Amino acid sequence: MIESFSHLEQLAAGRDLADVFLESDAQEHAVPADQILEALRRRRAVMRDCIERGKGGGTSMGKLVGNEAKLLNDAFLAGRTFLDPLTVKAEIYALSVMGENSRMGVIVAAPTAGAGGVVPGMLLALEEERNIDPEKTVRALVVAGGVGSIIALSANISGAAGGCQNEVGVASSMAAAAVAYMMGGTTHNQIHAAALALKNTLGLVCDPVGGLVEVPCVKRNALFSVHSLTAAQLALAGVDSVIPMDEIVEAMVRIGRALPRGLRETAEGGLATTPTGANIAQRLKDEANQRRAARAAERERTAQERKAQTDE
Ligand code: SF4
Repeated sequence: MIESFSHLEQLAAGRDLADVFLESDAQEHAVPADQILEALRRRRAVMRDCIERGKGGGTSMGKLVGNEAKLLNDAFLAGRTFLDPLTVKAEIYALSVMGENSRMGVIVAAPTAGAGGVVPGMLLALEEERNIDPEKTVRALVVAGGVGSIIALSANISGAAGGCQNEVGVASSMAAAAVAYMMGGTTHNQIHAAALALKNTLGLVCDPVGGLVEVPCVKRNALFSVHSLTAAQLALAGVDSVIPMDEIVEAMVRIGRALPRGLRETAEGGLATTPTGANIAQRLKDEANQRRAARAAERERTAQERKAQTDE
């Protein structure tokens, strides 16, 4: 088993990182590499479909988000965006996935649903913009998954356990390593890309408005897909993280434990309790109560109709 990032760096020096993870999985779980790669080809296809559907927009379950991908895509197609196409596409794709998630569409959790836009957004935009073989993207998903699983040995990957650093932070770290892999970086570069991305999300709280994975989650995925791109770019240029990855993960766990409960997915702090956030939460509560009352009235009406028919 690969126990830590320092262990990984020793084991994988001079080797293809995806091969190292595939070999380790085959030994540990007796799953052959070709089965893992086939499963990830299917995941890539789901990511691709989800991005295409998501670009069409639509309203989310809580009616707070849903059309961000469409708006940005329309602006991009009309030549009204100013960033380079790779960056804009990464944002569009991350928003697409999260839009689908907010409408209960099928997505790939990477590593969670709430942080599910960063990895596909960044990797599929990169594949398209740099004409990278889709098979390389599949192998990059092995790298992303491997990085996530080493983090998961020490940390619970959920906003409830440690705030959004544990979700979007980890997703950014996985994506950064995978981008460095796709761009031909060494194992050292890939681990430092992961470290730079994760380190710079530490302390990120989880404060979803109304308890829904909509605000700030959807747009956060777009912003942090670009964050992962920056981390990969720095690492590929030889900029290392001074703090080693294993120590960053330990710091993330300590910070997560220190976060107040209100900032760990309870919707009892941060953005969720701003005046606007609180008003939205109240509106969602009122709507849920109205729906419950309407269902109860409908049940009562049906029962009375049945009784009237029986009496006749
Ligand atoms: S804010 Fe919370 S619910 Fe939203 S993506 Fe981050 S961890 Fe998930």
